Amino acid sequence: MGRIFLEHPGGSRLFQCANCDTVLTNRGQLISTRFTGATGRAFLFNKVVNLNCSEVQDRVMLTGRHMVRDVSCKVCATKLGWIYEFATEDEQRYKEGHVILERALVSETDGIDDAHE
Ligand SMILES: [Zn+2]
Repeated sequence: MGRIFLEHPGGSRLFQCANCDTVLTNRGQLISTRFTGATGRAFLFNKVVNLNCSEVQDRVMLTGRHMVRDVSCKVCATKLGWIYEFATEDEQRYKEGHVILERALVSETDGIDDAHE
């Protein structure tokens, strides 16, 4: 009741904003769990919805120089991670257009599809 209508990624094993429970993405969009963010473990996703993006920033990471935007929850404005716009190293370019969410800032819940297990 009284909830803002937002995009829903569908699927099972949903990832939500840990602060306000807005659904952001699902397990099917998960590319890698082997990333590190400001708060520790971070996940790389193919597609994430219900985010706001900052201006592009030039950031040097362990894996080289990247152009990124910080991403935050559309509802509560908590910063959740970042999106890769451009990677200067060829072997890092698979990340372009994809989104990092910090593990500590999202919660993972079962979607409707898992209800009968
Ligand atoms: Zn939120």
